[in-house]
Amino acid sequence: MPTTVNAFGAHEAGRPLAPVTIERRDVGPHDVKIDILFCGICHSDMNFVDGSFGPLPVSPLVPGHEIVGRITETGSDVTRHQVGDLVGIGCMVNSCRTCDNCRAGQEQYCLDGHTLVFGSPDPAEPGAHTQGGYSEAIVAPEDFVVRVPETLDPAAAAPLLCAGITVYAPLKRFGAGPGKRVAVVGLGGLGHLGVKMAKAMGADVTVLSQTERKRDAAMALGADHYAVTGDGSAFTEPANTFDIILNTVSAPIKPADYLGMLRLHGTMISVGVTTQPMPLDVFPLLQNGRSYAGSLFGGIAETQEMLDFAAEHKVTADIELIGAEDINTAYERINASDVRYRFVIDGSTFTELTA
Ligand code: ZN
Ligand code: ZN
Repeated sequence: MPTTVNAFGAHEAGRPLAPVTIERRDVGPHDVKIDILFCGICHSDMNFVDGSFGPLPVSPLVPGHEIVGRITETGSDVTRHQVGDLVGIGCMVNSCRTCDNCRAGQEQYCLDGHTLVFGSPDPAEPGAHTQGGYSEAIVAPEDFVVRVPETLDPAAAAPLLCAGITVYAPLKRFGAGPGKRVAVVGLGGLGHLGVKMAKAMGADVTVLSQTERKRDAAMALGADHYAVTGDGSAFTEPANTFDIILNTVSAPIKPADYLGMLRLHGTMISVGVTTQPMPLDVFPLLQNGRSYAGSLFGGIAETQEMLDFAAEHKVTADIELIGAEDINTAYERINASDVRYRFVIDGSTFTELTA
């Protein structure tokens, strides 16, 4: 029998979220059922809800893609997880598993299109859409569920499932490590984990921010340097310095301003989501043989690798824990940049909701 669970969702784009109930499917042979302990609030949840990505794919739509919970039921053929395991689910819950990109462990780039944890047609349940982590429980295929090390604080680990892997994957791919200089643009949910991950990898880390306002916060996170970009002076000094510039800002910036800071064969990477165009001048790319790259969260195996790395290096998000009833206020505060650095919803508070 499908189970009805309490959740928090949007009935219409651009409207506040409200308590809803949704159905979770029966646990199939390869599925696990998870009691959701914590779910982070990511900026792209808000993009879906405010209509930036178009009309809602389904109504109500339950967002949430930074999920940590405990397994309460396993399907008959499940081998990777057991009842009681602490586990996580991030942005996706399925992919074709057979295309070149899936076989390369990069299911986020599935050539058939991955199944998002919410708002995607669900191949496991024809006619239904997936629903996310702002809810009491979730059922998902075991292959898209990762193990969360018990040494991590489960609430502070939740944002690793999207923000953490989103910064870890490109930092790793472009060689962040000892002797490398990494600049992080923007000090929000993504950026603060970018600083922590790059430091844990052994890189020399600079935070680039518009004003002086976040200097103390950046240094407290472990940054080695801080440079203010608002008056433009940082763009000429330091020049030819960074191996990697990680752009975590969810708004258009002018890449040409930043590219001059990249040293030989340096790469600027966009991970923040913006639906606005960004003008890219070619000439600064030609100098120093620079690259401009993008990266979309990460594959399942590298998400597991990231969680194990986070446990080894004691990297988690700085969070503010809230109850389900505070989600709309949290959205307003995120839009006002009033959070250090991630809101995480206490999953037990969904139980008290009445739709
Ligand atoms: Zn996200
Ligand atoms: Zn695929």
